[in-house]
Amino acid sequence: MLKDLNLFNQLCEELIKLEKEHPVSRPIPTAELFNELDLSLNEEGIVDKDLIDTLTKIIKYTPKTASKSFFNQLFGGRMSKATLGDLLAVLLNNSMYTYKVAGPQVGIEKQILNNICHLIGYNKQGDGTMAPGGSMSNFMALIMARDFKHPSVRNSGVISEMTLYTSKEAHYSIAKNASFAGIGRSQVREVDTNDKGEMLTSHLSYLINKDVEAGHIPFFVNATAGTTVLGAFDNILEISKVCKTHHLWLHVDGAYCGGVLFSKKYRHLLNGIEHSDSFSVNAHKMLGTPLSCSIVLTKHKEQLHKSFSNEADYLYQTDSDDFNLGKTSLQCGRRNDALKFWTLWKSIGTKGLEEMVNKQFLLAEVARQYIRDHENYTLYSFENSISVCFNYRNISAKELCTALYEDSKLMVGFGKYNGIEFIRLVTINSVLEKEDIIAFFDTLEHFVAKKMLKTAT
Ligand SMILES: *Cc1c(COP(=O)(O)O)cnc(C)c1O
Repeated sequence: MLKDLNLFNQLCEELIKLEKEHPVSRPIPTAELFNELDLSLNEEGIVDKDLIDTLTKIIKYTPKTASKSFFNQLFGGRMSKATLGDLLAVLLNNSMYTYKVAGPQVGIEKQILNNICHLIGYNKQGDGTMAPGGSMSNFMALIMARDFKHPSVRNSGVISEMTLYTSKEAHYSIAKNASFAGIGRSQVREVDTNDKGEMLTSHLSYLINKDVEAGHIPFFVNATAGTTVLGAFDNILEISKVCKTHHLWLHVDGAYCGGVLFSKKYRHLLNGIEHSDSFSVNAHKMLGTPLSCSIVLTKHKEQLHKSFSNEADYLYQTDSDDFNLGKTSLQCGRRNDALKFWTLWKSIGTKGLEEMVNKQFLLAEVARQYIRDHENYTLYSFENSISVCFNYRNISAKELCTALYEDSKLMVGFGKYNGIEFIRLVTINSVLEKEDIIAFFDTLEHFVAKKMLKTAT
C-alpha cells in the first residue's frame, strides 16, 4: 500500500501542475476517445510504469474542476482539508450502516446532522441522513411526505390520486422522483414563477384548491433555495403558511444554495426554514466538499425511521439503533460521506464555512458589477444569487460557451429563463479572488474579438 501511496503522490503532483498550466484540458472528441487513450481492459495486466503513464495521460485529458477557469457547474474548486478527509474515508473503507462496522464515523455523521438540525431550528425532533446526491435527498423527502400522509402506502402502494407542487424552475429530480415513488409524473403541478424565478405563492394556492375540488389529495410542496438556473430563493415563509392551511409537507430543496444556512449575512434567504418539514443541502456545492456529499434533514425523526427502517417499528428500537444508521438510510452498504465534510468543518469552523458562502456572493457581485460597468453586456441575474446570467454582444450563449470549451479557454455553461438563453457564470469556487473573475471576462472578450466577432450581430 505504501508503495502505491507514493505513486498516488506522484500523480497528485502531476495533476496540480497540470491544473495550473492547462486550467482547461483539451477536450477529446468522443469519436476519438478510445483511440487516443488506452482505456482497454485485457486478459493480462500491465506493469506499474505503464500504468502510471496511462493514468497520467488520463489525468491530462480529464476536465479540471478545481482550476481557476472552471465555472461550468454548481460545484468547483478544492478545499484541501475536505479532500484530506475524503482520502482518509477511502482508506478506512467503512460502511455506514452499523456502529459495529463504522464506529466513531457514525458519531461524526450524527454530529453533522445534529448541528445542522440545530441551525435550521428542528431541534430535538430533528434527524437526518446522507444520501447519494441532492436528487436522492429530494426522493427521501418525497417518500417521507407520502408515508406521512398515508401510512398504508408503505404496504399497499399508492392507490389515491396524490398531487405535489413545485415551481417550474425546480430541479428535474422532483418529476423523476414522483415517478419512482409511484405518484406519477402527471401528478406534479408546476407553479408559475415571478420575473426573478421565485415561486408565485398565489398560483400555488390556486393549484391546490383546484386539485382539492377535483378530489385529488395534495400532500407535498417543494420549495427551492437556489434554483438550478437562476439561483433564486422561493419565499419559504409564505409557502409554509399555504402548507399549514392545507396540511401539506413542505420540503426545501437547498441542494444548490442551502449552504446559506451557515451565513449570518445570507441566512435570511431561508426565512421560515424552521417551519419546513424537511430540508436538503449538498455540501458538495456551496460548502466546498468533494462529490458527493448530500444531507437531508427532517423535523419528524420518527417518520425517517418509519419510511426507511425495514422493521418499521420506531417505538421499540433500542438506543443503539440510533447508532445503526442503516435504519434511516436509503442504501444498505453506504459510503462514508461524512468524514470529508466534518474534516473541513472541524478545521475551519462554522465561521470558515460562513466566509466561504459570503465569498461566493461577493464574487457574484464583482461579476454583476463588471457586467453593469461594461458595454455590450446584458445582465439577467438579480441580487443574492451566485449564478450570474448574462449575454455578450448578443452572441448565442450556446455557441460562445461551446467555442470557449472546444478552444480550451473557459468552462462555463448556459441556461434559459422565460425563453431567453444566456451564459451562466457560477461563482461557487470560494478559493477564487476578484481578479480571477475579472480574468474570466478578459478571456471571454479577447476570445470573442479574435475568433467570433464575425458572427456577432
Ligand atoms: C444540483 C441540484 C439537485 C441535484 O443534486 P445532485 O447531487 O446533482 O443529485 C437538486 N436540486 C437542486 C436545486 C440542484 O441545484
